[in-house]
Amino acid sequence: MPVIIGALRESAPSETRVSLVPEVADKLAQAGASILIERGAGVRAQFPDSAYKNVQWAETGADVLARAQIVLVVQPLSAASIAQLAPGTVVAGYLQPYARADEVRALRDRKITSFAVELIPRISRAQSMDALSSQAAIAGYKAVLIAANELSKFMPMLTTAAGTIRPAQVLVIGAGVAGLQAIATARRLGAVVEAYDVRSATKEQVKSLGAKFVDTGVSAEGAGGYARELTAEERARQQEVLDARIAAADAVISTASVPGRPAPRIVPRAAVERMRPGSVIVDLAAEQGGNCELTRAGETVIHNGIKIAGPVNLPGQLAYNASEMYSRNLLNFLRPALLKGELAIDWNDEVFAQACLTHAGAIKHEPTRKALEG
Ligand code: NAD
Repeated sequence: MPVIIGALRESAPSETRVSLVPEVADKLAQAGASILIERGAGVRAQFPDSAYKNVQWAETGADVLARAQIVLVVQPLSAASIAQLAPGTVVAGYLQPYARADEVRALRDRKITSFAVELIPRISRAQSMDALSSQAAIAGYKAVLIAANELSKFMPMLTTAAGTIRPAQVLVIGAGVAGLQAIATARRLGAVVEAYDVRSATKEQVKSLGAKFVDTGVSAEGAGGYARELTAEERARQQEVLDARIAAADAVISTASVPGRPAPRIVPRAAVERMRPGSVIVDLAAEQGGNCELTRAGETVIHNGIKIAGPVNLPGQLAYNASEMYSRNLLNFLRPALLKGELAIDWNDEVFAQACLTHAGAIKHEPTRKALEG
C-alpha cells in the first residue's frame, strides 16, 4: 500500500505558508506516495486547490490527522492535534524543540516519529533540506525591504538636477544566512553596508558581498559552525565598537542568534538614543527576545524618532516562494525514505538520526530530553 502523505491548512492565524506545494505534491506522487490535502491548505500562499492535481482531498484537518501516515507541517502541531494521530505516524516540519515542551511530550507519549527541520544537520549533503537556511534567506531579504520602506531616505546614491543624494548607511549585525542575504539585498539597493558577526569566518563572506566588516576583536565560534554566548568582558569590548557603528547607521538589520538561547542583547537603549531621528532598526531576533532592548515582537516601536521594527514570521510575508522552498526542503529530506511509495527510514543515516525529535515513545534529541526529563 502506498504511504499516505498529508498536509494541513495551518491553524496559526499568522501562518500563511503551506507545507506541500503542487509541484512537490506531484513529485511525491511520482515517488509512489498517495497525497491527502486539507481543502484550502495552500490558499493563503496563493496555491488554490485547483493547482493541485492527482491528490485526495480532506474536508477537515482532523481527517488528515486520522488518515495520513506522514504529516507535513509548517508550525508545530498542538497537543490536541497530536492526540488525533495514530501511534507510529511520522510528523515532519518546524517543531520548535526548545520552546514547545508540552507538544514534545505529546509526540513522545503518542509514540510519534517526529523530525524537526531545526535539527537537520548543517552539512553539505543536507543543504537542499535546510529549511532554516531557505527561510532565513527570505527573512534577510524582507528585513531590508522593511527598512527601505520605513526610512525617509533613499537607499542608493542619486545624482539629480536637484543635487546629489548620499546613499543610506546600513549596518547588518549577525552575518549568518539571514544577515548575508540582508547584505546582498541592501547592496543591490545601493546602500553602503557594514556588517558584524562574532564568527571570524564570516569576515571573507561579508567582504565578498561588497560590505565592510566591523572588527571588534571578539571571536566566538561555537559548536557546529554556530556562535557561542559571549563572556561579560567580550560583550563590553564588542559593545564599545558597535555602539559607534550603530550611531552612524541609517538602518540596522539585526539577525544575531545562538541556538536554544535567548537572542544576544547587542543594541541597548543607550545605543538607540545615539542614532539620528528617522533611523530604523529591523530586529529579526524579535521572537527570541530581540537583539535590541526596545524591540517588541510583532510591533514597530518609535523611540526618540527612531523606528524599531520587531517583525515575526517574515517568510510568511513572502508565502508563495517561502512555501515552495520549504516544501522542496521537506521533499529532499523525505525522498530517500520513500522506496516504491513505502516508508523505509534508514536510521544509520545521520540526517534522519539527528533530525529525529521523538520515536517509539522516547525523546531522541539529547538536549531536549535532558531539558524535559532531567
Ligand atoms: P544563526 O541564525 O544561529 O545566527 C545568526 C548569526 O548571528 C550567526 O552568524 C551568528 O554567528 C551570529 N551571532 C550570534 N551571536 C552574535 C553576537 N553576539 N554578535 C554578533 N553576531 C552574533 O545562524 P545561521 O544563519 O543559522 O548559520 C549558522 C551556521 O550554520 C553558520 O556557520 C552557517 O555558515 C552554517 N550553515 C551551514 C550550512 C550547510 O553547510 N549546510 C547551511 C546553512 C548554514
